[in-house]
Amino acid sequence: MENNFDLIVIGGGSGGVRAARIAAGFGAKVCVVEEYRLGGTCVIRGCVPKKLFTYASGFSSTFELAKSFGWSVEASFDWPTLIANKDREIKRLEGIYGSLLSASGVEIRADHATITGPNSVILHNSQEILTAKKILIATGGKPYMPEIPGIAHAISSNEAFDLKTLPKSIMIVGGGYIAVEFASIFHGLGVDVTLAYRGALILRGFDMHVREGLTEEMNHNGIKVCLATQPKVIEKTQNGLCVVCSDDMKVDVDQVMYATGRTPNVENLGLENIGVELGRHGEIPVDEYSRTSCPSVFAVGDVNGRAALTPVAIREGAAFAQTQFNDNPTKVDLSIVPTAVFSDPEIGTLGLSEAEASAKFREINVYIARFKPMTHAFVQSETRMMFKLITDAETDKVLGVHIMGHAAGEMIQMVGISVGMGATKADFDRTIAVHPVAAEELVTLKEPTYRIVEGERI
Ligand code: FAD
Ligand code: NDP
Repeated sequence: MENNFDLIVIGGGSGGVRAARIAAGFGAKVCVVEEYRLGGTCVIRGCVPKKLFTYASGFSSTFELAKSFGWSVEASFDWPTLIANKDREIKRLEGIYGSLLSASGVEIRADHATITGPNSVILHNSQEILTAKKILIATGGKPYMPEIPGIAHAISSNEAFDLKTLPKSIMIVGGGYIAVEFASIFHGLGVDVTLAYRGALILRGFDMHVREGLTEEMNHNGIKVCLATQPKVIEKTQNGLCVVCSDDMKVDVDQVMYATGRTPNVENLGLENIGVELGRHGEIPVDEYSRTSCPSVFAVGDVNGRAALTPVAIREGAAFAQTQFNDNPTKVDLSIVPTAVFSDPEIGTLGLSEAEASAKFREINVYIARFKPMTHAFVQSETRMMFKLITDAETDKVLGVHIMGHAAGEMIQMVGISVGMGATKADFDRTIAVHPVAAEELVTLKEPTYRIVEGERI
């Protein structure tokens, strides 16, 4: 059987679903092929269940603080309840994704797709052949786990969402987004957490104050942050697992979770049949219109290796549909990408780090405010919020904003609008503060904490 479409989308995740719906809205005959569950990583085993876990985890510190405000709280936590409620919500969202596609007139195939030529795809189970004028690859990514002895005993974030029981202790390997988020989640749920990171400081690429600040906060909270170390061997023991690390440290834990990055999902995709070669990190190279080296084939989202974030995949999917099916060439502006890390405390960040800004601009001003949040007014606490603003001394333009503390993600979303419009420090200063909120610090930062002139801190 052969079926003819204007567009075949491989992958029903954030980027693929958005592209399919918009293209169908422009009158294209579209088919989405999804091999697992509609909604993709973000909905099924990424952002959404992660944020639900983050909420669950955050209650423990809230209950602690509540005592200082006069409350008596007797709390206990039930992991199976969280899993069951999460599963129900994810199923609901998955259903919504299916209904939205169907309502847009998009056909759906539950199967694995392999590209057989510039305009054709074969489905693995049904052996159905689909043809189309254009093919969009939106196959996302999958966890990468290094080959070390005993790695089969470890889990990735995929499995962490479906553990039958909550471990009493866990080692999390890695120092990126997923590692610090899950370290905070498990810690908040009462698990004894060790975070093992191979580098000198977690969150490589983020601003130094955020990296140092979060490490300190995690240590204060009771997470054991082990830097410059990584597992050599994972051995099964009578009671669980024993991890032997590069510095010969041995850690006994119930569970080991790897969060050591994700690789583009191109397995059995048939790229060799259209002459598309992979980039250095296994990604599908594309131009600013998401075009691959094969003129009828495009790639959006995590698989093209630009920025592995849901809003980026969605924007790329929408821009692709505008360009190819509405005669409206559209690029995605990735010059300012606000992003949040849902650790405890939360991080919100956008623009340049101090290191990047000082390398790029002759003179920069750095403004930093660190203070105890008002929620901790009645307790002895090392917890600090941090606001950091980096500006170009010559133009006064805001180059980077880095926030650590409660609701940092919400704040950075709003700051992103003004910085995207080219806001200066004077624009921030002119804005009347909201009082008493933490974010008022952003518009009341007076003198620079320090300046950096030609790389020298002054
Ligand atoms: P995906 O959503 O991964 O969708 C790809 C789909 O393609 C999958 O459903 C897959 O089954 C399917 N597929 C693959 N190959 C084939 C094939 N050959 N045939 C048929 N189907 C196929 N981003 C944020 O912005 N904020 C967050 O808070 C956040 N949290 C995250 C937490 C975790 C634990 C993880 C893992 C990721 C998180 N991300 C977050 C990243 C975000 O999930 C991804 O950037 C986003 O899902 C990418 O969308 P996509 O459309 O490119 O791919
Ligand atoms: P990241 O790229 O963020 O971090 C990977 C971590 O693993 C780094 O600390 C890296 O170290 C380390 N690592 C890599 N290879 C090895 C190895 N062989 N041995 C030991 N450590 C290793 O990936 P994540 O898996 O955390 O997340 C993937 C992406 O998903 C993120 O980059 C982000 O784009 C997205 N995401 C977004 C979220 C959000 O928006 N809140 C949440 C979760 C994911 P080094 O730094 O030294 O290379």
